[in-house]
Amino acid sequence: MQKRPGFPARIDTLGGSPARPMLSKIPPGAPGRPARAGVPVPAPIPQGLGLDSAAVRARMVQRLAAGGIASPAVLQAMGAVERHRFVDTALVNQAYEDTSLPIGLGQTISKPSVVARMAALLLAAPCAQGGRGLARILEVGTGCGYQAAVLARLAREVYTVERLRALHEKARNNLRPLRLANVHLILGDGMLGYAAGAPYDAIISAAGGDSLPQPWCDQLAVGGRLVAPTVGPHGRQALLVVDRTAQGLQQQMLEAVHFVPLKSGIA
Ligand code: SAH
Repeated sequence: MQKRPGFPARIDTLGGSPARPMLSKIPPGAPGRPARAGVPVPAPIPQGLGLDSAAVRARMVQRLAAGGIASPAVLQAMGAVERHRFVDTALVNQAYEDTSLPIGLGQTISKPSVVARMAALLLAAPCAQGGRGLARILEVGTGCGYQAAVLARLAREVYTVERLRALHEKARNNLRPLRLANVHLILGDGMLGYAAGAPYDAIISAAGGDSLPQPWCDQLAVGGRLVAPTVGPHGRQALLVVDRTAQGLQQQMLEAVHFVPLKSGIA
């Protein structure tokens, strides 16, 4: 029996030539594909928070805007992605609060204001100006896949690397129903970046290191921007923004943040 490729497109290994992402055939009328003329498409059946969550999300977006997120694209993406589908059932009622939540194996999903803030910083990359937008993003730390789903609405291609196999699988399961053909899930050590997708207009890390891994700088396009929680000179973690210009790298340290640690190797 032929094995049906799953969504999202998936690349499993690092090293060697990467497999081309495989795309499933989506039946007509399925989400993401128009209905065949004359064939009625059944309305989606609300599940769990279902349709109610749209109103809760809209309030979250209002709070994000009030908190200083000005990018319409980011606000739209935050309003579109159903965060409650990425957390455990027991935590669903907290999904739209501005709080980080556990996703298993001691890891956490970042709070919405931090996801939105980092996404807005990436969209302000020099190469994304003039309406060109972001071509390719590298995310280090897929976790449950929530941020990857947000980024998928802001860039043409999203490459996201996770070092913990169980979370890589969890993200794949969470993202499958969204059928995001532009999200490429990679099981690997994100400290090495992901050379096969480079150069990136934007690199975002969801885990904090003591210093910036060199491959990230090497894989950043000229005009591209990297945003990563990093331990600063005072021993506290803060958001580090690095722009790659034709003249070299320009760094700025922004506000303090609290991310899980960046670790090496696959587990
Ligand atoms: N963006 C995620 C948040 C994940 S938390 C989400 O939306 O859910 C940070 C993740 O970074 C954890 O899953 C952790 O396992 C992962 N991580 C830490 N070091 C890593 C590395 N070197 N390569 C890839 N993933 C890493």
